[in-house]
This record gives sequence, C-alpha cells and structure tokens, in this order.
Amino acid sequence: MSDKNYSFFGAVERSFDKAARFTKWDSGLLNHIRQCNAVLQLRFPIKRDNGEIEVIEAYRVQHSHHKTPCKGGIRFAAEVNQDEVMALAALMTYKCTIVNVPFGGGKGGIKIDPKKYSVGELERITRRYTSELIKKNFIGPGIDVPAPDYGTGEREMSWVLDTYVSMRSGELDAAGCVTGKPITQGGVRGRREATGLGVFYGTREVCNIPDIMSKLSLPLGIENKRVIVQGLGNVGYWAAHFFQLAGAKVIALAEYEGAIFDEKGLDVEAVFQHRKKSGSILNFPGAKHIKHANEALELECDILIPAALENVINEENAPRIKAKIIGEGANGPLTPEADDYFAKKGTIVIPDMYLNAGGVTVSYFEWLKNLSHVRYGRMEKRFTENVHSSILNQIEELTGKKSNAHARELIMRGPDEVDFVYSGLEETMINATHEIMTVWKENPAIPDMRTAAYVVAINKVAIIYAELGIFP
Ligand code: NAD
Repeated sequence: MSDKNYSFFGAVERSFDKAARFTKWDSGLLNHIRQCNAVLQLRFPIKRDNGEIEVIEAYRVQHSHHKTPCKGGIRFAAEVNQDEVMALAALMTYKCTIVNVPFGGGKGGIKIDPKKYSVGELERITRRYTSELIKKNFIGPGIDVPAPDYGTGEREMSWVLDTYVSMRSGELDAAGCVTGKPITQGGVRGRREATGLGVFYGTREVCNIPDIMSKLSLPLGIENKRVIVQGLGNVGYWAAHFFQLAGAKVIALAEYEGAIFDEKGLDVEAVFQHRKKSGSILNFPGAKHIKHANEALELECDILIPAALENVINEENAPRIKAKIIGEGANGPLTPEADDYFAKKGTIVIPDMYLNAGGVTVSYFEWLKNLSHVRYGRMEKRFTENVHSSILNQIEELTGKKSNAHARELIMRGPDEVDFVYSGLEETMINATHEIMTVWKENPAIPDMRTAAYVVAINKVAIIYAELGIFP
C-alpha cells in the first residue's frame, strides 16, 4: 500500500471506501454520499491599500444536503485549493454525523496568506466573500453556516455577520448565519476551549472502556496516565489543561521551537505562561530539553495527542512511536501508512473526525442559542437555585445538621451557560464513543477506530436517504 498519488479528497474517498465495505448499502447510494453536492468557485476583486486591484480566488463547498444547513469553517491560507476544500467539506459531513449534530458538511476557503494583508484588506476580502455567498444563496441560518478555521477567528466571523445583517435587514434569525462569534455578538461561552475539551472527554471515555484498556495492558481511567501533547495552541493547550485537571501527568509538551520533558508531570498553565513571557517553551524550570521537537512524540507514554499539524506521524517515524493510545487533536496528523501500521500493531488511534469534533458541537449550541434568542441558563438558573435551597433547608431541618459553606454553595448553584455547554459536549462525546465502539465490537473485521467511525457516519447518512425513499 504505497500508492501515495491520491489527492486530499482522494484520500477521504479512500477511507470512505475502506469503511463502505462494512455497510450494506447499494453502490449507487454510497457513490452519492461521497460526492460534493455543490461546489462554488469564486473570483472577485479587492482594492489593496496601495490602490492596486487584486483578484482573489475563493471557494465554498457544500458536501452533503442530507441535513441542512451545511456547516464548516472558512480557511484563509495560501495553499487553499478546490480539492482541499472539497475534502474538508466531506470530513465535516462525517464529523457532524458522528457527534449527532444535524448539519451537512461544508467548508470555505480563501487563497491568501493573511499575514500579507492589512486588517483593512482582510476586512474587505471577508465582506466581499460574504456578499458573494449571499448573492449565490450559499449562506444563511437555514442554508450554510460558516465558522472559523485556519487563519480566521472571532474578528472575521463578526465581519461575516455584519455583512449578512446589513444585506438581510430584519431577518430574525440572522445571528445564526455564522458561528464562532464573540459573546457580544451572539457567541456562546465555552466555544474557545471546546475542541481541546472534546479531545479530553473523548480520550477519557476510551480509557474508561475495560476491553480496550485490558488489551492495551493499561489500568482503567485517566488518572496518572502519562500524556504527551504536541502543539500548545488552541487545541493542544486546552486538551493538556483538562488532562492535568483530571489527574493525568502531562510529561512532555512539544512546540515548533523544541520540546520539554518532566517525568513527574509539567504544570501546563505555568509552561504556557513561561512561553508567553519568554517566547519559547524551552528553559522551563525543572524540565529537561528534548533536542528535536519531533523526538518528543517517540517517548514512552500512555497517550499521545498530536495537536499541531497534519502528517506528523508517518511511515518513517511510526515504528518508533511507543504510545498505546494516539488521540488525533489536529486534523490529519497521521498519514494513511501510519494508520495501517498502528492498526496492525494494536495501538488505538482515536480519529480526528470524532475526537476534535468539540468545536462543531459547541458551534451547534451557539446556532441553537441564536435561533432561540436567549442565553442558556437565563430562564432556569434562579429557579433551580431556589429549589435546591428549599431541599437543602428541609434536609437540614429534618436532620438537625448544617452543611458547610462550600458544600452549600456547590449544591445550591444553578447552571450557567458554560455549564450547559460543557455538559452538552461531555454527553455528546460519550455517546459518540459508544456508538463507534459498538459498531467496532459487532464487526471485528473492521481494522481500526477510524474505519468504525466512518461506518457509523455512512450508515447515518444512508438511512436518511433510504427513509426518504430516494434509494430503495
Ligand atoms: P493553533 O495555531 O492555535 O495551534 C497550533 C500550535 O502548533 C501552535 O502553537 C504552533 O506553534 C504549534 N506548532 C506548529 N508547528 C509545530 C511543530 N512542528 N511541532 C510542534 N508544534 C508545532 O491551531 P489549533 O486551532 O490549535 O489547531 C491545531 C490543529 O487542530 C489543526 O490541525 C486544526 O485543523 C485542528 N483543529 C482545530 C480546531 C479548533 O477548534 N481550533 C477544531 C478542529 C480541528
């Protein structure tokens, strides 16, 4: 298996086909599911600050309309091309399906290196792109809902929203046309840490499955597990933070400038602050340096979380990786060759399509918040606190014992928005884990968890078409 001449979309199709063999669906239906339903190619002009006109290349792909709206980020990168946007849109369909988020997959891309443009130029590009999407009916709370991706964030999502609102004046649900917005513009609390938190919940759930842990000769649970994280960015930092909070030992952290190691466990927040201050992860007090950052991936550990880049684990270094569990925080950190290697070796690879779905899950919560026009917790927080208070008072009166101030505060507390978001995400990741594991257990010929995840996704999309009667 060393034909590497497949495109990114080709690689997704390849994984799809590998899994489709384990489903019962007709080849015509499977072929329909794989294809992108709509591909929008755009070329539009913008005026640079120096007065020159530049033609911008951009895309929006809606991979699947089995559920609407479509959902997926907008990427600003010099490498953007149609094949990549199609592949990412397809992965979004499967990702949303796996975590039971009722969207079809979508993705957008603008072929620019954002570092080479001023803020004013980026704003003009984002606004023009949005107005092109509006003209083509490729954006809207019930049509297609973008979000941040590489090179974009809350700022760009604000521009998308403002452009949409100004062109669709009076549309009641307009705030739901994009997610990943700042809280002041309809964003949801907990969105920023959502992907890293989802990585933690998903990995923890796998570590709670007795069969898997006994096959790996590891004790159940997350406590004291030795974890290595590559990338201290949005996904890696939050994942490492939540692992440490749950009692795991983050023994190594790798960044592009190098890696550090401490068998006793690193203080993630202290490392993060040290890097912020000094500009480097290196020279953290008490930690050992690892000469080449990538060597950190090869250290003895229980859980390895690559959360930086794609293709960092490939056929060259896979044989040196000692982790028993690899949790794909990043998109595509393993090449198909590495994947095949670990499937044979028995290493559990928790696939990106499922493990890093926390972002889109919480985007779904943001979209629901926008459609309901009310902050989570606003209606019930005070009521819940009053009920809890009455119950506690009754218990204290009947038993004649007073609870201490800390316990009282814990019991009394009504939920805030962030509590709903965290618990909704936790429930989502736990359910998704068990859906994937059940399919894998029922069909032991399935080689790995990624293929099992694809089987779950294909079945859920196919059943919708089958029930619609489109395919007998
Ligand atoms: P980010 O830019 O915040 O963080 C990436 C980090 O990796 C940076 O700190 C960077 O310095 C570091 N890095 C770069 N090269 C490295 C190297 N060679 N070795 C070690 N570290 C290196 O990006 P992010 O949002 O955390 O995304 C990381 C990955 O997760 C990407 O693959 C992205 O597609 C995926 N992802 C992100 C989200 C999200 O919500 N942010 C959701 C799903 C998937």
